[in-house]
Amino acid sequence: MHSQGLKELQMGKKEKPLRSLYHQLEKIVGPENVWTSFPDKITYARDRWPLATLKYRFGALPGALPHCIVTPETVEEVSEVIKLSGNENIPIIPFGAGSGVLGGTIPLEASIILDTKRLNRILEIDGINGIATVQAGMNGELFEASLNRKGLTLGHFPQSLHCSTVGGWLATRSAGQASTKYGKIEDMVISLQVVLPNGDIIHTKTVPRSATGPNINHIFIGSEGTLGVITQASFRIWPYPERESIHVMEFPDVLSGLDALRRIMQSEIKPSIVRLYDELESAALLGKSSHHESNPCLLTLVFHGGKEAVELEESIALRLCQETGAKEGTAEPAYRWMEERFHSRTPKQVAKGNLLDTIEVAAPWSKLSALYEGMQNAILKAKPSARVSAHWSHIYPDGACMYMTFIFNAPEESQSQNDYYAVWDGAMEACLTAGGTISHHHGIGLMRGKWIEKEHGPAFQVLRALKKSLDPKDIMNPGKLGL
Ligand SMILES: Cc1cc2nc3c(=O)[nH]c(=O)nc-3n(C[C@H](O)[C@H](O)[C@H](O)COP(=O)(O)OP(=O)(O)OC[C@H]3O[C@@H](n4cnc5c(N)ncnc54)[C@H](O)[C@@H]3O)c2cc1C
Repeated sequence: MHSQGLKELQMGKKEKPLRSLYHQLEKIVGPENVWTSFPDKITYARDRWPLATLKYRFGALPGALPHCIVTPETVEEVSEVIKLSGNENIPIIPFGAGSGVLGGTIPLEASIILDTKRLNRILEIDGINGIATVQAGMNGELFEASLNRKGLTLGHFPQSLHCSTVGGWLATRSAGQASTKYGKIEDMVISLQVVLPNGDIIHTKTVPRSATGPNINHIFIGSEGTLGVITQASFRIWPYPERESIHVMEFPDVLSGLDALRRIMQSEIKPSIVRLYDELESAALLGKSSHHESNPCLLTLVFHGGKEAVELEESIALRLCQETGAKEGTAEPAYRWMEERFHSRTPKQVAKGNLLDTIEVAAPWSKLSALYEGMQNAILKAKPSARVSAHWSHIYPDGACMYMTFIFNAPEESQSQNDYYAVWDGAMEACLTAGGTISHHHGIGLMRGKWIEKEHGPAFQVLRALKKSLDPKDIMNPGKLGL
């Protein structure tokens, strides 16, 4: 990966004359929808990858400046822009809201950024079939608010709800905070409209299920802009829940908490939000309230649904927690979390000169303890002064996602970058050794590309072959997803 100084780029030394490209793009989307100014290019040269933020702090770029940013309004315009980039052999990068945390939208060479935010219409809300059809650039919070006004919900609440798009969710295989009840984005989507790298527009069928070969939706869900641009999707939607019930259980340790979660899921109980915190995160959550000596690990359980179903589910789940050594605590920490659950902690840490990143992985229940220990030790070995903590959310009958956070002081660029890569190298190796998957819901982007072959083994040839046949010129988001 190369990085260029902002000052050098500002003087335009490296920019080729691009009038003809801009003119052709303006003919497709209109002059006001092709942005070529330096501030625009700088804004789109990074996403929320913490290393990119670190580099910006020191006046460097994580990749390259794009040629321009294009904001089409229709699927036909998207198709024309893609055809043009193919003809000109210029890489094209789909961009939703840039909230990705792994460098997925960062240009590695001068490219066209295709920002989907003008594809932002809700096309249909069908209450009878429980289906909403929406364009891919729709903002997540606005989409959910429109459903709520009709007494409905999608049930997808990533922490980045307000700063991410529907297309970005699909392209990264996103998971929301209520995923244990409503599922992940792949469980919610019914059909897609996609523009392929050759400009063809394809639709999959809006039917509840189909035995007509491999599911084509799944080729594009998680494809991170490397196989086409998702322009529209239909989703299953639900009545807005009648009741919400919130509990905090206090466990003697992480292992007893994990045991309770396994039993809950294997009893076919589905709380909507499940968050088990290790001691460090529990203490942070408790804030000024007293630290619990004997039961220091907190579990937040939130149930949503009809009154009778919620009452039954919570009584069984709480009993299972008590059987593994938990007692019920005050729900105050959970209410506080609910209030702040869409806030990002990163900007505060950046302001203090720190580097904060999160690593979300998953494994079967029997491997979670080794995964926690292995990754924690590997991070501390690479950076002994790091603060490392974890929580477990997004749970399944067969295992769970572990969400690890590390923070260290990053007073200058070069050593901090080395430390950052050493931490990630250690954590990813430890994850693979423990039998986990290297990503549960943030995806691969630029950062994790180097481990994807190890993750998939020989199965990775399937993704390579798909990329080669759908995008032989390698114009769609090259260098991402390890492709
Ligand atoms: C504070 C914070 C909290 C977060 N919390 C969560 C969370 O709880 N759960 C979670 O899953 N993620 C979370 N994320 C990560 C991020 O928000 C998600 O990955 C989100 O799905 C990205 O959406 P976006 O629209 O911003 O996509 P972008 O960042 O713009 O793009 C992400 C990737 O998708 C591709 N892409 C975008 N749109 C399209 C499209 N229409 N067609 C094809 N490819 C496309 C891009 O090329 C890129 O590779 C969080 C991020 C932040 C900063």
